[in-house]
Amino acid sequence: MNIFGFRISPSSAINLDNVDKERFRELCRIEPDAVRCMACGSCSATCPAAGFSGMSVRKVLLYLQRGKEEEAFKLMSNCMLCGKCTMVCPRGINTRHLILSICRIYDKEEKK
Ligand code: SF4
Ligand code: SF4
Repeated sequence: MNIFGFRISPSSAINLDNVDKERFRELCRIEPDAVRCMACGSCSATCPAAGFSGMSVRKVLLYLQRGKEEEAFKLMSNCMLCGKCTMVCPRGINTRHLILSICRIYDKEEKK
């Protein structure tokens, strides 16, 4: 049977009060560039992996800030560490180093 009319989609709101921010704070302590990103998208525009995987440094940072670590790592698994994003970032962020630091910090937490 066809169902007509409108349905309300489930809310996609994220309650940041419920997000464990300790890992992201740790990242910012050793890699202050993590909060300097202005989400301009230049890195995604130049990333060779973005076209087929959606890899984006700004998305990775947003996911981590929102406690969506699994999604962030799914994106980062497509990064080839080529460094093209580092060359174009207008904030001078060493994005490749940032990605490596994210892997180190979050992996260290996983092993606890
Ligand atoms: S280092 Fe990773 S995120 Fe940056 S351009 Fe290369 S593949 Fe993309
Ligand atoms: S190019 Fe730099 S400032 Fe722009 S979104 Fe990427 S990391 Fe952020």
